Amino acid sequence: MSARRLLGAIEAGGTKFVCAAGYGAERAPEPYRRVIATVTPQTTLAAVQAFFADIEREAGPLAAIGVAAFGPVDVHRGSATWGSVLNTPKAGWSGVSLVEPLARFNCPVALDTDVNAAARAEVSLGAGRGVRTLAYVTVGTGIGGGAVIGATSVSGFLHPEMGHIRVRRDPRDEGFAGICPFHGDCLEGLASGPAVLARWSQPMSALPPQHPGHEIIGGYLGQLAAAIALMLSSERIVFGGGVMSNPHLLAHIRAAARRELGGYLPIDERVGGFDRLITRADLGDRAGIVGAFLLAEARLAAEA
Ligand code: ZN
Repeated sequence: MSARRLLGAIEAGGTKFVCAAGYGAERAPEPYRRVIATVTPQTTLAAVQAFFADIEREAGPLAAIGVAAFGPVDVHRGSATWGSVLNTPKAGWSGVSLVEPLARFNCPVALDTDVNAAARAEVSLGAGRGVRTLAYVTVGTGIGGGAVIGATSVSGFLHPEMGHIRVRRDPRDEGFAGICPFHGDCLEGLASGPAVLARWSQPMSALPPQHPGHEIIGGYLGQLAAAIALMLSSERIVFGGGVMSNPHLLAHIRAAARRELGGYLPIDERVGGFDRLITRADLGDRAGIVGAFLLAEARLAAEA
């Protein structure tokens, strides 16, 4: 694989598609980048095609394209609906193929969830360098989690949907029904950005430091972190997403996870403590697009 081969990368999100092209994940910032609003599939995907067509005219053919997609999405390469968005509340997007519009570029395409891709990015180039098992959790409009074990991201009949686990209620939060259309008070229904807004009429970033919301939301996310540690034995659990821009939250997540685990797992001895186990995304909001480049690189390597 030549290092000069031009790669495409797409972070397909519910509010925007970040498209980029360049010569590898490590070569930031990528030379070509365009942010496209997520509106109707027709408009958005036509703009994605136009971006890569412009790139090819200017820089030559793409060698591979990696897609880090919002879920739920069919990540099974052998499936007839591979690369299609599954049943989503996002109007007009259910059943839409994210890979079919890329066929015209005649190059290998790789696709994974945005959080699995971000986990891949953080373990290769970010907060998880040197570890084998890492989970990535984004807390924003929704809550999603992905994980990488070795060089492989976790998938099965679908992909992890960590945001929809049940958590134990904080007694100070009994009156709130939760906002998940499927489960009401699942983790996403209680701790996503819109759930914070629905309860306290302001975003996490605007809550005063003494507001109990920090401890409540941190407590719920800490329960997820503890569950991940118990189920996957992840050596790093990386938190990203808009809600995490709140500077107080991470400490509450660590404290809650420590409480939940009750000294059962050897986190201090084997991982170096909860500050190392539970951390912020090193790559910040670039984790998704870097992960998309890594997907493209891995696909090229697999086809070589
Ligand atoms: Zn739910």
